[in-house]
Amino acid sequence: MGIEKRIVLGAIADDFTGATDLANNLVRGGMRCLQVIGVPQQAIDLSDIDAVVVALKSRSCPVDEAVADSLAALTWLREQGARQLFFKYCSTFDSTDQGNIGPVADALLEALNAQQTVMVPAFPVNGRTVYQGHLFVGDRLLNDSGMQHHPLNPMQDADLVRVLSRQTPYSVGLANRALLAQGADATRTHFSTLAGQGVRHVVCDSLDEQDLDVLAEATVLMPLVTGGSGLGQALPAQYRAQGWLDAITEPGRLSPSSGGTLVLSGSCSRATLAQVADFLAKHPDGGFALEPLSLVEGEQQQQQALAFARQRLSEHAPVLIYASADPEKVKAAQASLGVERAGYLVETALSQLAVTLVKDGVGRLLVAGGETSGAVVSALGISTLRIGEQIDPGVPWTQAPLAGCETPLSLALKSGNFGGVDFFTRAFEVLA
Ligand code: ADP
Repeated sequence: MGIEKRIVLGAIADDFTGATDLANNLVRGGMRCLQVIGVPQQAIDLSDIDAVVVALKSRSCPVDEAVADSLAALTWLREQGARQLFFKYCSTFDSTDQGNIGPVADALLEALNAQQTVMVPAFPVNGRTVYQGHLFVGDRLLNDSGMQHHPLNPMQDADLVRVLSRQTPYSVGLANRALLAQGADATRTHFSTLAGQGVRHVVCDSLDEQDLDVLAEATVLMPLVTGGSGLGQALPAQYRAQGWLDAITEPGRLSPSSGGTLVLSGSCSRATLAQVADFLAKHPDGGFALEPLSLVEGEQQQQQALAFARQRLSEHAPVLIYASADPEKVKAAQASLGVERAGYLVETALSQLAVTLVKDGVGRLLVAGGETSGAVVSALGISTLRIGEQIDPGVPWTQAPLAGCETPLSLALKSGNFGGVDFFTRAFEVLA
């Protein structure tokens, strides 16, 4: 028997964009990485893959569901031979007193028969740091950062030891900055001491990359680590030091891309609106605007968008189809149709256009909007994404195999406020 190729890291992410963020950092750290959407139902070739990130939707769902889905992902990742497991959640520790971070971490520890794990949400380059167990966003405590108003998981306490203690029956401890300053050996000893006292979860301070490096070194042999994508960038160097990684010079290398170029945007976030405006300034005839109030009338506007895109693609010219609109327009559509219906109409139209135009030969697709990306990926029947080069922080190019197609689709999925102003044009230069 024996496993032919073991993956080094198996990660379980509690949402889609968080999964991509982690996968992107793993590639930057030097690992070849695949993101899978949900637990794969069939065998996947992992012969040239070092890390797999399973994207779940378990951040805000009922606890039982989050635990069951996470355990299913764990089982699958262990079958692939993962040496270490990583439970990825948001760097703002998005959760409620019910969960899901505590219950999922407890369930994973139990399934792994492990005694202890670490909680490392910090992502210093994005301004998320932890000091004396307190999470900061920039120079504000978490509960004063805007996150206290989050619609699904309002974060009203920055003390993560206290936050987590409300989510788990087990003891929660702290590894503070003063300890990390003594290095990885001292930190490991501290973890053991805490384990001896029955501490199951250790919240870890981290103010900068050096702290994350110390933590990665101290935890590389733990069966399970948990945290944000900052720790994800620090771990590959430790795997390399263990001799677990092949020497790879271009972990984000993708197959050559081909086919037409298309941008679909359903995001109304401020950064996206600026990206749409920038694209239209560069390609005044390159954009087609969809409007929910027209889409609700019937097929006509979608058909016009399709004809527009086909014409542009036949001229090898870049195309942008967008529903992105300023807050007033969005409010007007929502007032008339309801928030859900307006969103659904846009997501359906953009997804159907993606399916038709990819069949027509689009080979490089950029989608703006988290929900919009989810809808497009699901309509295209995509379940695995090979992670390529980063375009802008947190947004890599990816490649997805498509049923019946020889060449994979090159896909960039950008959520809300990510990306520089020229993202819609520069992304394709990165790919070229
Ligand atoms: P972001 O990542 O910026 O939050 P999402 O795609 O997650 O973007 O969410 C944007 C939502 O707004 C989607 O459900 C989309 O369908 C919807 N939407 C897009 N354009 C409009 C519009 N003009 N009017 C109303 N809703 C819109």
